[in-house]
Amino acid sequence: MNFGFTEEQSMVRKMVRDFVDKEIMPYISEWDAKGHSEPRILERLAELDLMGVCIPEEYGGSGMDYNTLAIVCEELERGDTAFRTAVSVHTGLNSMTLLQWGNEEQKQKYLVPQAKGEKLAAFGLTEPNAGSDVAALQTTAVKDGDHYILNGSKTWISLCDTADHFLVFAYTDKSKNHHGISCFIVERDMPGFSSKAIKGKLGIRAGNTGEIFFDSIRVPKENLLGKEGEGFKIAMAALDNGRFTVAAGACGTTMACLEASIKYCEERKTFGKEIGKHQLVQQMIAKMEAGLEMSRLLVFRAGWLKNQGKRNTRETSLAKWQACDFANDAANDAVQIHGAYGYSNEYPVERYLRNSKAPVIYEGTREIHTIMQAEYVLGYRQDKPLRNTLPAWPFEEALNKI
Ligand SMILES: Cc1cc2nc3c(=O)[nH]c(=O)nc-3n(C[C@H](O)[C@H](O)[C@H](O)COP(=O)(O)OP(=O)(O)OC[C@H]3O[C@@H](n4cnc5c(N)ncnc54)[C@H](O)[C@@H]3O)c2cc1C
Repeated sequence: MNFGFTEEQSMVRKMVRDFVDKEIMPYISEWDAKGHSEPRILERLAELDLMGVCIPEEYGGSGMDYNTLAIVCEELERGDTAFRTAVSVHTGLNSMTLLQWGNEEQKQKYLVPQAKGEKLAAFGLTEPNAGSDVAALQTTAVKDGDHYILNGSKTWISLCDTADHFLVFAYTDKSKNHHGISCFIVERDMPGFSSKAIKGKLGIRAGNTGEIFFDSIRVPKENLLGKEGEGFKIAMAALDNGRFTVAAGACGTTMACLEASIKYCEERKTFGKEIGKHQLVQQMIAKMEAGLEMSRLLVFRAGWLKNQGKRNTRETSLAKWQACDFANDAANDAVQIHGAYGYSNEYPVERYLRNSKAPVIYEGTREIHTIMQAEYVLGYRQDKPLRNTLPAWPFEEALNKI
């Protein structure tokens, strides 16, 4: 077991931290207040080679390990949840899914420009009547010669207005229940595609979230990812990677809460001493520290499993559930530590509290992860081997074996 970071991982952490301090922190409060999604940030992440950090170099990425992706997510979310969410959908849910399930043509056509950050990618699973209950989705894909005709809509889709490519899940055979769901690569430019942002969100206001619509889109059969009927498995495998990035990002929120609270503990005095000297305030600080360290251990264990090419659905679910709950608690306590000042956007902690809620809901709600963990422990749930696995790291060895 090795709990240390490599020199490369430490360099990436420093690079993202510096970037966040210089290019996000000074502006984020204003972007958040205006609901402005700043496109320059994702362009800059591409310039820094971070939009495909754990995608092999031969597919346009930086070829780093999966825990480096976690480090990027942690440091980015220290700046704001919106930008980590963008990396989660672009890299975690979409690009890593193409890496795992795509054929060579699909990888060359879609993964390479995504990993280079030339094209932005998103993930369309949720529908108005299908969130946790994925099999309730209603979007359909009907075969018509060399094409599938897609009809339906998705909601709560991150990067709905800005992504170029989408993974979309639709029924090709409703009679087979979730075995009848298939996954398609859909391009924004395909006739019949449209999108609309959701306004009035509690948090992640500096991020773009909304609906996407498919009005008889003709998707070439080459854009079927995996086989017909494999969509549910692909979606669940994608979530193993998306959840990993969400868990890592949650560590960044907890870290930001801790940093803001420590600073405030030094500034604010009551009853003749700094508030950090009051034991009940210390209790909140101690809980944040414990939450941060426990979350990191869970996240980096999941990343270690990914590096080994081992199944990690159970471990990633635990990391995601716990890290997001810890972050939400930390943000609540950070507001408490700031007293009334924490209740205004003069300080960043109210944004942390609003932002920390969505990760407790998306990519498996707290309740879904609670049930999953109970089922694993009770022996009601086992993971069956998948037809395709995410390549282990280092990639050269893993890809040569395929
Ligand atoms: C900011 C944001 C960004 C998002 N981005 C994306 C995206 O990019 N792509 C995408 O596809 N989706 C995205 N989502 C959607 C998200 O994944 C769903 O909201 C989530 O899966 C939950 O589904 P739901 O909202 O329909 O809640 P529901 O499934 O309707 O759940 C409602 C409540 O019931 C509980 N519940 C449901 N079933 C059970 C059960 N069996 N046992 C116990 N409790 C249960 C839930 O835990 C929850 O508390 C995003 C959501 C948000 C908020």
